[in-house]
Amino acid sequence: MSSSFERVTVLGAGVLGMQIAFQTAVHGFAVTSYDVSDEAVAQARGRLDAIVGQYLGEVRDADPDAVRAAAAGIRFETDLAAAVADADLVIEAVPESLELKRGVYRALAQVAPERTVLATNSSTLLPSDLVESTGRPERFLALHFANHIWAQNTAEIMGTSRTDPAVADRVAAFAEEIGMVPIRLRKEQPGYVLNSLLVPFLDAAAGLFMKDVADPATIDATWRIATGAPLGPFQIFDVVGLRTAYAVSIAGNAESRAFAARLQRDYLDRGLLGVESGEGFYTYR
Ligand code: NAD
Repeated sequence: MSSSFERVTVLGAGVLGMQIAFQTAVHGFAVTSYDVSDEAVAQARGRLDAIVGQYLGEVRDADPDAVRAAAAGIRFETDLAAAVADADLVIEAVPESLELKRGVYRALAQVAPERTVLATNSSTLLPSDLVESTGRPERFLALHFANHIWAQNTAEIMGTSRTDPAVADRVAAFAEEIGMVPIRLRKEQPGYVLNSLLVPFLDAAAGLFMKDVADPATIDATWRIATGAPLGPFQIFDVVGLRTAYAVSIAGNAESRAFAARLQRDYLDRGLLGVESGEGFYTYR
């Protein structure tokens, strides 16, 4: 089955949005990347250059000229109506805030063509939290990627009870067309499959750190050596990005909020955002 999508617009050109736009462009789709300001687009261009470098360093059989041409073909937009005017699929990867996302969907509902399928990449919200703002419940669902999209290539597909199954089929076909392994959920689940496992794991690591049971390097080494996993929890925090870690923790219980405050004070306020900024719990420069 083919998705029959040709033009894809990604809203938000941050950590995940830029990876999604890149992965989609490399697989031959016409991609538009939308963000809110010229300044955000300038940052996104730098992010895209870094992704191209990382991808070419990691994907051995990639054709550098083709990859660079695909990245150069991504159209950047700061006008929402222009960004989605001819989109077959819009993937939303704006910050993880319910009110912000609802506002984006309300604006999108006014300007996106009727036929356009909308997908949220939200990690912690359910599509049913957003569906009323979309104006098209049958053509809205979640399509959730993992960070480091070309390597950690799961794409979790989770509709609401009102999503048209044929739309979910098309989105699953699209996921395969861009090199993902589609993971179909049978019902809504906060955190999908991946984060239902990952978030409690990272919470436990944060708890050990906050109680000063052991330092991050020791906690990570324990996990890696004893399980054979390639990364420990604090390495994962750095890859995910400490802004996202903060946003998830601040919405949690008192212990999680204490960890969020620690992230704010010792990391975010000092510009330490994880791998993206070159330093987080570890240094990557
Ligand atoms: P980010 O903060 O890196 O990027 C968000 C981008 O959205 C920024 O470029 C910002 O300028 C832009 N933005 C802000 N307001 C906007 C608006 N109104 N319209 C369009 N763009 C706007 O965030 P991120 O880590 O890329 O996360 C984005 C989404 O992807 C979230 O829903 C998050 O849950 C999800 N996600 C993140 C990860 C991850 O590992 N970082 C993994 C899977 C899913």
